[in-house]
Amino acid sequence: MDSINTLKEWIQQSQNIVFFGGAGVSTESGIPDFRSEDGLYRQHYDYPPETILSHTFFVKNPQVFYRFYREKMLVLHANPNPAHIALAKLEQQGKLKAVITQNIDGLHQKAGSQNVLELHGSIWRNHCVKCKAFYTAEQIAQMQLVPYCTCGGVIKPDVVLYEEALSSSVLQRSVQAIQTADMLIVGGTSLAVYPAAGLVDYFCGKHLVVINTSPLAMDKRAGLVIPQKIGQVLAQVV
Ligand code: NAD
Repeated sequence: MDSINTLKEWIQQSQNIVFFGGAGVSTESGIPDFRSEDGLYRQHYDYPPETILSHTFFVKNPQVFYRFYREKMLVLHANPNPAHIALAKLEQQGKLKAVITQNIDGLHQKAGSQNVLELHGSIWRNHCVKCKAFYTAEQIAQMQLVPYCTCGGVIKPDVVLYEEALSSSVLQRSVQAIQTADMLIVGGTSLAVYPAAGLVDYFCGKHLVVINTSPLAMDKRAGLVIPQKIGQVLAQVV
């Protein structure tokens, strides 16, 4: 049986599917990932992206941070692709219980997914570091390079920067979802960013599937590895 049919069959057999994904899920929506051939890490900047996207850098160099953030991360007009849409459909069918994502683009919610655990936060929420006032992404897009609150504080996107902790509640819910899943689909992630990547080790269910365009260390543990574009794959099975 070919891999697409196996995936279809496993989805039919499973009642508690969890999806764990990353930037590769959104490349088919036109948002570059970090580590692919044309990913952001292959492009040249004055500082490495890991440095720009760190907490220390945000505090010390907000202009450079926001120039990068506005150019590369504050993507407001992208649309969900067939991967996001298929996962939302699987949830509506009652089969998929959670989408755990490292993405900050909000495209799973735009596609209609309800239970989305955003490990690294979201560009769609922003708060003043001083008075905690809330700002939308559209407001940030319209403000000057470094956005300031009416109280004078700098506004920070609710994205988890390097050196910052992940939300303990999101982590706990992610662990619980993975631990109780009978099928885990991992896709569009290099599994290189910790602690997020370590979450997949909590899986002890029946079917582990990897859908990723480049090989992962996890491939040898997976029952099924599909090295193709995730939107194209999921569109064929849901
Ligand atoms: P990554 O860039 O490290 O890895 C992406 C992986 O997806 C690669 O292995 C690549 O081969 C694969 N891939 C690319 N397109 C694919 C496709 N169409 N189908 C299947 N596989 C595909 O991304 P990561 O593991 O998520 O880690 C990077 C960090 O960057 C994350 O923490 C995330 O928060 C952040 N990030 C988010 C976005 C976003 O929100 N869209 C974009 C860039 C980076």
